[in-house]
Amino acid sequence: MKIPAVKGFRDVLPDESIRWWVLEERARAVFHRYNFREVRIPIVERTDLFQRSIGETTDIVEKEMYTFADKDGTMLTLRPEGTASVVRAYVEHALAQHERVSKLYYFGPMFRRERPQKGRLRQFSQIGAELLGRDDAAADAETLLLLYDLLAAFAIEGAEVQLNSLGCHTCRPAYREALVTWGRAHFDELCDDCRRRVDQNPLRLLDCKQPGCAAIRDSAPRMLDHLCAECQAHFARVRELLRREGAEPRLNPYMVRGLDYYCRTAFEVVASGLGAQNAIGGGGRYDGLVRALGGPDVAGIGFALGVERLVMVLGERALEADVRPEVVVLPVGEAAEALAVAVAHRWRTGGVRVEVESAGRSLKSQMRQADKHGARFVVIVGEDELAGGALTVRDMDARRDHPRALGVHLTAEELRAALARLSAA
Ligand code: AMP
Repeated sequence: MKIPAVKGFRDVLPDESIRWWVLEERARAVFHRYNFREVRIPIVERTDLFQRSIGETTDIVEKEMYTFADKDGTMLTLRPEGTASVVRAYVEHALAQHERVSKLYYFGPMFRRERPQKGRLRQFSQIGAELLGRDDAAADAETLLLLYDLLAAFAIEGAEVQLNSLGCHTCRPAYREALVTWGRAHFDELCDDCRRRVDQNPLRLLDCKQPGCAAIRDSAPRMLDHLCAECQAHFARVRELLRREGAEPRLNPYMVRGLDYYCRTAFEVVASGLGAQNAIGGGGRYDGLVRALGGPDVAGIGFALGVERLVMVLGERALEADVRPEVVVLPVGEAAEALAVAVAHRWRTGGVRVEVESAGRSLKSQMRQADKHGARFVVIVGEDELAGGALTVRDMDARRDHPRALGVHLTAEELRAALARLSAA
């Protein structure tokens, strides 16, 4: 009997994993240009970390976490997102005492028990960044520019960054009240979930996907009209700094983000061609979270991008990196095996990507196999070659043989030079 993978959990096979690899490598390069450094956080945390940081009334904490009791009774959860863990680590290791600003990035799997569909999994991966220790608008602008640069490095076309401000503890309570009043006035028109949200989490009334709720939200009060003077100035400055750099995110007054701790700048990235699950990333400012998790009063801002969705829209331009073998070595007959292994080993050690076919099969079937690898050059080690001390090269692109063109003692560098000469010939 075959045992299938668990629903919502999937394998990434080599044709796709090359895209993951390109994505990760490019992301690292961009992060390092911004002086972000990697933090590796555990996959399992205490459940109360997420209850306290994400918020009790969010979808994630209410119904989507993979939570279990450890053998000693401690309640543990597979992390549904990365920010809580990064902040926990930041507090636990007192990073604030060592550096005024911490700029951290991470890669890794997250777990949410959502209903699986295209672009929505129960295990998915995120690339995330967190900037701790700055509350000024320039920090927000730089974080958004980092996001723009990542999207450019992935050659994603048609991605749109949307921006909103969620206010702060000064202005949001009054706005929340205005929203509750509006929600009560429209109670009959709201879906069942939103009826619950009116009192529990009224901000979420704004991004409900139900057609009935979406139809009436135009009449709802907007946070942007209720910002206090400081939040207004902060938001205007963020936009001004971005505009100077040619980045103009679209204002979306209905974007509220799922997590309780967001304040002021909030943003999301949507991409075309993904269907209903079109958000490829999101983030925002979360001043107050570090304190809520037992740390000092340090501000923070960050974002996370969903790798599976990025992989689907990754531009072909980003895929120039090639990991296919450059050379395939074909030993013809058992006697050639040791020499084939030896030259392949020498060239690989010198940095060439080499595949070796197994000896003892017909040259025809070996050639077919070599062709599948997509290498330009096939190096044949046969009896004549063994006797003559030189190897035959077949140029698969030019469909030409170069009999006994390579000495058996060539180093990797000499091989490269010889192959370059042969391709020019
Ligand atoms: P969030 O923290 O919910 O805003 O998630 C950030 C990004 O992670 C989203 O924009 C998605 O690209 C990705 N993401 C979130 N949930 C899932 C999921 N269940 N399956 C696949 N990707 C997801």
